[in-house]
Amino acid sequence: MQKIANYINGALVEPVSKQYIDNYNPSTGSVYSLCPDSDERDVELAYQAAEAAFESWSNTPSEKRSRIMVHISELLERDIDKFAMAETIDQGKPLWLSKNGEMPRAISNIRFFGTAIEHFASEAHPMGNHAINYTLRTPIGVVGCISPWNLPLYLFTWKIAPAIAAGNCVVAKPSEITPYTAYLLSEICIEAGLPPGVLNIVHGLGPKVGSALTVHPKIKAISFTGGTKTGAEIARVAAPMFKKLSLELGGKNPNIIFADCDFDKMLNETVRSSFLNQGEICLCGSRIFVERSIYDKFKAEFVNKVKTELVVGNPLDAKTKTGAIVSKMHFDKVLNYIELAKLEGGVILCGGHAVKPEGECANGWYIAPTIIEGLSYDCRTNQEEIFGPLVTITPFDTEEEALMMANSTEYGLASTIWTENLTRAHKMAAEIKAGIVWVNCWLLRDLRTPFGGVKSSGVGREGGLEALRFFTEAKNVCVKL
Ligand code: NAD
Repeated sequence: MQKIANYINGALVEPVSKQYIDNYNPSTGSVYSLCPDSDERDVELAYQAAEAAFESWSNTPSEKRSRIMVHISELLERDIDKFAMAETIDQGKPLWLSKNGEMPRAISNIRFFGTAIEHFASEAHPMGNHAINYTLRTPIGVVGCISPWNLPLYLFTWKIAPAIAAGNCVVAKPSEITPYTAYLLSEICIEAGLPPGVLNIVHGLGPKVGSALTVHPKIKAISFTGGTKTGAEIARVAAPMFKKLSLELGGKNPNIIFADCDFDKMLNETVRSSFLNQGEICLCGSRIFVERSIYDKFKAEFVNKVKTELVVGNPLDAKTKTGAIVSKMHFDKVLNYIELAKLEGGVILCGGHAVKPEGECANGWYIAPTIIEGLSYDCRTNQEEIFGPLVTITPFDTEEEALMMANSTEYGLASTIWTENLTRAHKMAAEIKAGIVWVNCWLLRDLRTPFGGVKSSGVGREGGLEALRFFTEAKNVCVKL
């Protein structure tokens, strides 16, 4: 069985414990590789390598750092088919989505930050003829990056790329549920000539490897994407050490549909924003609020489209639109929420059950895309993050009511508004409590824009200059003239 290796000091190595965790292919429910069960000893080795590399990497001209990173992105592009297949087997998403969605984004993350660093400049604040202030931005040192399982390589590269570009050295931990593409990336880093120690990847469980990173006194910043509870634990541990923290956490995003929207465009996008990647995208709109005058039409056409178009099954099959749920634990969690929704009075309009494909995928973890109506906006199903192929639909009568329901959860990551009324769109966008608002579109991303959430969806912003600022320390120098 294929053993995944840690990547420490430029070499592929086994964990100190020599222990491994089973790594499952969710589309078949079987173990197909072994993930290192690393611990604080591996994190320490990785830290030592990163610390040793820092002096040289942080003084490497940005042009040279950029060249190496662009080379990594080119090698990733060369191997896109291999990476896409690996991601699908590890995560369960359809192969076309890995190949046309996630892998191109992982490639652009590395290229974007690799080139952005060449244009990164700091500010000057002249005080008339008396003095001049200028800001020095220097890399932080050794930083930790921790990422989740839903978009494994995309979110992993979203963190490590700006960290390395800015001159830091990194100890990174991918999710133990989907470690494979980060492992393949370490092979590419070696081939591209990334100096040893600049990036170290330690695989293993969150409470062992993730928390060893968080408690490490010399790791000065943590960029984390994952669940809100984990984020709170990281913040609790890191705060007394005054670590810099960027926390990208859970969501329960509203999708608000007004009667004056472009109906067909909205319907197509709402199917995507509800169920792409099995609904396992932190930006998916899981609470759909529809103006009452078009509620029945929307309901009929949405349910029909989901039932007829979203083929569930083997992610390797080109016809498949909805692949496997990432793990047995997550599969059980989503099914439990469907039961809870029924208990809370929800009516299942489609889906609501597991799917058992024939053949080699019979033991995989599949759930039919599920649409539920009849729930109050403040019930648990509508307040808690489920993170699967399950959405609720709820009618509203006024803008105020839609806004009140949209803002009623503890989360505030993303939101979508469908209306052709420009004034209303701007007004709603200003009043929604979320870090991201899409108007008449969804998941349209420009990597230069700030990305992140409010309330329990996170602290700090990533993306573009925000990420480069996070991964550098600003120092003001004031010179009296
Ligand atoms: P998770 O919090 O369980 O795990 C995320 C990462 O943290 C994993 O690598 C895990 O091993 C590690 N971890 C677990 N316990 C830890 C600890 N005590 N200390 C340090 N690290 C620890 O999240 P998940 O289930 O992998 O991912 C799903 C969650 O991620 C959802 O809540 C989703 O909304 C969120 N998410 C957010 C964004 C965003 O940009 N805001 C993007 C994607 C996913």
